[in-house]
Amino acid sequence: MTDPGTEEQYEILPDDYTQFDLSFKIIVVGDCSVGKSSFTNKATRNIFDDDYNATIGFEFFTFNIKMYGKIIKLQIWDTCGQELYRSLITNFYRNSSFAIVVYAVNSQQSFDDLEIWFRELRTHANPDIKTILVGNKIDLKDERKVTTKQGEDFSKLNNVHKFIEASAKEGINTTSTFIYIAKMLYEEHSKFEEYTEQDKEFTEKFKINDSLSDSIQPPKMKKKNPEEKERKQKKCC
Ligand code: GDP
Ligand code: MG
Repeated sequence: MTDPGTEEQYEILPDDYTQFDLSFKIIVVGDCSVGKSSFTNKATRNIFDDDYNATIGFEFFTFNIKMYGKIIKLQIWDTCGQELYRSLITNFYRNSSFAIVVYAVNSQQSFDDLEIWFRELRTHANPDIKTILVGNKIDLKDERKVTTKQGEDFSKLNNVHKFIEASAKEGINTTSTFIYIAKMLYEEHSKFEEYTEQDKEFTEKFKINDSLSDSIQPPKMKKKNPEEKERKQKKCC
């Protein structure tokens, strides 16, 4: 398969594929019912459900892709927007490399609340975290309350890495968003490895300290929680 934007070769692997070379954590935040779970579910499993169950606390997804000859695993923490769970979510911000912040274009409230979500990110996340802002539900054309320009302006003001509008229902900009994230994280990682490699050469040349040349190890993947489905039956937001 070829990404039309980049001509880069890639292959999307099943979400239960266990092998990987690199792994990164992604967090998905935003108000309740904007379509966080639907967006993630569509991108990773190609499933859309009109009656998607509300998420309790958080839900775990994976997106596996082979590009540049490496298998990249994105570990995606889809969170629940409810106030009650915000303190729980703060623990996930810390180790995430990327945050997907979602609002629904038919909900002015969800757009106004972006201020809250970006404040949460600034407070709890690693300062290097990158953000993608997603204006979801663009299929609901007649109900639109937030314009594309408003989304773009907000993105500029808040140093958003990339702004997209999407429809989880119609599969618009769902999978391509995760391909983009995997590519960006891989490229960043490669740059970092290049520096590490230069460090190694420097270290060997001047015999300073071998421990400086340790390369980065991907974190181990967490197993799916079998109780997750049961907990999803109860509504929370
Ligand atoms: P979350 O609380 O942010 O995770 O939102 P959900 O994914 O649970 O979605 C809330 C509701 O919005 C569900 O009824 C979904 O079917 C619906 N929904 C999600 N994404 C879209 C979309 O792109 N278009 C439309 N029309 N409905 C959507
Ligand atoms: Mg949800």
